[in-house]
Amino acid sequence: MTARVLVVDDILANLRLLEAKLNAEYYEVALAQSGPEALQQAARWTPDVILLDVMMPGMDGYEVCRRLKDNGQTAHIPVVMITALVDPAERVRGLEAGADDFLSKPVDDATLFARLRALLRTKQVQDAWRLRAETARDLGFEPPPVPAASVAGARALLVSEDMVEAETLRRALAADGLEVTICVDAIDTWDALSEGGYDLAVLSLSMPGGDALRLASRLRAQATTRDLPVLLVADASQKSQVLRGFDLGANDHVLRPVDPNELRARARNQIRRKHYQETLRADLDRSLEMAVTDALTGLRNRRYAVRHLEGLLRTAGAAVLMMDVDRFKSVNDTYGHASGDIVLKEVADRLKSSLRAADVVARFGGEEFVVAMAGQEAEDAAVVAERLRLAVSAKPIEVEGGEPLKVTISCGVAAVPPGVSLDALLGAADAALYRAKGNGRNRVEIGDVGQSRAAQ
Ligand code: GH3
Ligand code: MG
Ligand code: MG
Repeated sequence: MTARVLVVDDILANLRLLEAKLNAEYYEVALAQSGPEALQQAARWTPDVILLDVMMPGMDGYEVCRRLKDNGQTAHIPVVMITALVDPAERVRGLEAGADDFLSKPVDDATLFARLRALLRTKQVQDAWRLRAETARDLGFEPPPVPAASVAGARALLVSEDMVEAETLRRALAADGLEVTICVDAIDTWDALSEGGYDLAVLSLSMPGGDALRLASRLRAQATTRDLPVLLVADASQKSQVLRGFDLGANDHVLRPVDPNELRARARNQIRRKHYQETLRADLDRSLEMAVTDALTGLRNRRYAVRHLEGLLRTAGAAVLMMDVDRFKSVNDTYGHASGDIVLKEVADRLKSSLRAADVVARFGGEEFVVAMAGQEAEDAAVVAERLRLAVSAKPIEVEGGEPLKVTISCGVAAVPPGVSLDALLGAADAALYRAKGNGRNRVEIGDVGQSRAAQ
């Protein structure tokens, strides 16, 4: 995995050393020798990860990190702080400034690269979602709301063979409002996590039989748990397992004796990241939904119906019902446009509730609706059309300021085997609709694809 790494340190020799290590692993590297320079580079070069020295004259690493995280342009870039300080309180300070992890000086190569790989993997997923959210924004959709900083109410599953420790960790996490479930056994854990609904898994690496690593890798393999943050709890002597854990998909770790504040800060960061990702995803779903939905009726729009029909024409063959409200102009003229809208909405609801879920009903434009169905038999489709015609005309529609209106639709039906063009299909349905209008309205006519204008 090649990636861009910005290294920040006030001492040139430290910069050169890290640069050499990173270059040897084919990372692209940029260097900054002060806080302000780092901020500038981060905004201009947009690195994939930043290695940030804590102690620097002027602006220290904490301040740089805070500013990076406050700037929407750089907030998503993971930051690893590099420090000679071993005091847990210093680590908590860094985590609270938004750092993703710490490496102690002198930097151990294996740890550095395992960390980088894990952070970059997470970032890649997040970047994909961010990009889609940006596309949606370019198309004019509202940006997603910034998720709340609070993690209260989030659900964590804590897995440990040591009940005393589990209880201590539970209490630490509960102080941030997390709901913590404790599991002692890998099988129970797997069942609980597969059901979903968790925001964090905290796994003790000391579970018998190396179960924690197996679990971590299974969680990554399954779609429902792929994005669940995994935090390992390890002994200082378990370094190689921690590194293996990162490569198998763990996101973070704490070492024993566990500092409760450090655990909380790491848990918060992981949960916030997950919430952010979920926001992006929900936002995308919403934008996609809006892009294919007709605003007035809530039906699919023309764009969607066309795509759907093209799909059917490639595979199963398609039947189409083209429907138009009869003498609709007079509704507008007599009762006003708003009443016209109410009628359209009610017609749409009746059509929708008279169809199977698999049939697509769309507003094709104005007072025209289309139903797209799989299948090639026009007679079958005409039965459906007749049902829809009756559903619309059966009961007058209530509008403000007048008697309920008798509303009817006319419908043209056409059906074709796979391979026929969409134009030919729609042309035939349109010609049939035209005939239904000519023959007195409130009726269904079947079109002949061979005779439609578009097929000639
Ligand atoms: P026909 O039976 O031949 O279909 O007659 P018609 O009056 O329904 O046909 P025409 O195409 O002349 O009129 C359609 C009207 O639908 C004209 C247009 O103003 C109205 N219309 C189109 N879109 C909307 C809409 O979103 N809301 C409302 N209220 N009216 C609309
Ligand atoms: Mg009409
Ligand atoms: Mg019309």
